Amino acid sequence: MNYAENILETIGNTPLVKLNKLTAELPCLVLSKYETFNPGNSVKDRMALQMILDAEADGRLKPGGTIIEGTSGNTGMGLALAAIVRGYKCIFVMSDKQSKEKMDILRAVGAEVVVCPTNVDPSDPRSYYSVSKRLGEETPNSWYVNQYDNPSNCKAHFQSTGPEIWGQTEGKVTHFVVGVGTGGTISGVGSYLKMKAKEAGTTVKVWGIDTYGSVFKKYHETGIFDENEIYPYITEGIGEDILPKNVNFDVIDGFTKVTDKDAAIYTQKLAKEEGMFLGNSAGAAIKGLLQLKDNFTKDDVVVVLFHDHGSRYVGKMFNDDWMRDRGFLEEEVKTAADLIKNHENKPLVTAQTEELVSHAIERMKEFKISQIPVKDAEGFVGSIDETDLLRSFITDKEIADKPIKDIMGKPYPIVKKSAKIDAISKLISKENEAVLVDLENGNYHIVTKYDVISSI
Ligand code: PMP
Repeated sequence: MNYAENILETIGNTPLVKLNKLTAELPCLVLSKYETFNPGNSVKDRMALQMILDAEADGRLKPGGTIIEGTSGNTGMGLALAAIVRGYKCIFVMSDKQSKEKMDILRAVGAEVVVCPTNVDPSDPRSYYSVSKRLGEETPNSWYVNQYDNPSNCKAHFQSTGPEIWGQTEGKVTHFVVGVGTGGTISGVGSYLKMKAKEAGTTVKVWGIDTYGSVFKKYHETGIFDENEIYPYITEGIGEDILPKNVNFDVIDGFTKVTDKDAAIYTQKLAKEEGMFLGNSAGAAIKGLLQLKDNFTKDDVVVVLFHDHGSRYVGKMFNDDWMRDRGFLEEEVKTAADLIKNHENKPLVTAQTEELVSHAIERMKEFKISQIPVKDAEGFVGSIDETDLLRSFITDKEIADKPIKDIMGKPYPIVKKSAKIDAISKLISKENEAVLVDLENGNYHIVTKYDVISSI
């Protein structure tokens, strides 16, 4: 009989799968190291087990102990599986930008999950780095894993992922492309492949995928840790606002940055065009690889590593409403009808000429809008916007109690639903903040300067 003694024995030996459609424009062979075949559905099972084995071996982790870690989900899953088999408890600290699915999944495998705010400085006591450290100090018989600086992270990839890729490509790999978070994957695999290539008298180039809002690329290129580059981003799993010890910059030949939008779009494309239902960092990795295309030639064998599974992103990159809200859907916006599609069913907010300015201000506050068309019995006869209000207030402090007709500006131009976006843009100016769209059923809707800018 051929069976594994427990689930941990199924970690590793994942397949290498060729990409076809998305890489059709490239001259070389592109192979993906398909890590979702691991039992926790991510590459992180490898390093999680290695970190536990090494901590057991040198006494940092003792029988019945509690494992504490700050994790975006995948390391947590690997640690939880190993903890179940080897008899430990787990407490995981996550940032609130992580998908709810990731938190639920960790709870499903018995872990306690503590959620921390994303938009605070790493040194802030509420940050997920600080909270994980504090829990490590306060919980008896606990071990704080610290995947960022724990050398077993990199070692796992040097000892398993790297040798697998070298063996599966029969030493023909010429480039390795991978997203960088803690740096364990790129540094471990990269240094193994470079070592083997040197022995064989060949070369392997190692490329890291970074994201906008992260410090890696600039630090690699200039040695400058630029705090100006740090800002919140949407892409999950890659990029950092710290320099983890596991990132070995010497092994990395270069970084390319991928936008949140591109990473999300390419996560969808992998599923739809390759049948590869994968996580967000896989989308970033394949887009980054395509950005690097000028570095590849005909005989190259490029290996890209895909970290985790699509199921953890069903409420995000695989949800079109989520994508649309962030402007990530590549929908062609051509006419007035396209511009009002998302709010067509909501009633148009208007004001009457005889109402007081205070009424219009209240309505602006309630609906969070900056301009209102003004009507009388005849139809649209004027408009009122923030700039008019401010200008009038400067000359007359009692403006709120005056009728709207005293301060209103010109009425907004009216266009048909079929009006082209170029024509609408020409109508919008400093003096004219919006246009009205005739819905041809007696109703109208508004297209503002903001709507036009958002559609670009
Ligand atoms: N992708 C995903 C989905 C991850 O969870 C991680 C780990 N943060 C990475 C990429 C980056 O891998 P590494 O930490 O080994 O650099």
